[in-house]
Amino acid sequence: MKFDLDRQQPGRSVLAVKERLHSGAPEPLPAEIELDGQLTVDNLEGRVVLLGVLRGAAPAICDRCLDDFTCRFTAEVEIIVLRNVSAVGESETGVIHQRRGEVDLTEPLREAALLGLPQKMLCDEDCRGICPRCGTNRNREACGCAEEVGDPQGEEPTEL
Ligand SMILES: [Zn+2]
Ligand SMILES: [Zn+2]
Repeated sequence: MKFDLDRQQPGRSVLAVKERLHSGAPEPLPAEIELDGQLTVDNLEGRVVLLGVLRGAAPAICDRCLDDFTCRFTAEVEIIVLRNVSAVGESETGVIHQRRGEVDLTEPLREAALLGLPQKMLCDEDCRGICPRCGTNRNREACGCAEEVGDPQGEEPTEL
């Protein structure tokens, strides 16, 4: 998404964000991420600061039950556009050196989205996962397997 430096009023304004991004991240991370929400834009002398927390959504697969679900998360965004620095040093995360014209926000938004993704992809905090014995998705139905753990050799659950 583009952000036009030349069309910003001085002072504070609001920028609506609704973006669908290619994550560029390897599997199992989602290939596409949607961001939605608002950023506060502070157009200051020599720099523009975009700040806010966006809602993220991405198609994901649950680590426990392997079901598809939509992972919802929050992405904290902080982007600083420095307009009065001519030298482009090593680029810090979230810092863009640009004097005027359109700034491309795609990359910093993508980075913020990737940072916001949860470490563990769970369809639900209480996801019961898949039964290691019979493979039943225990969110959908209760299988009759005993809850005991260990004994990976035991093929047949003993019926009493
Ligand atoms: Zn699950
Ligand atoms: Zn089972």
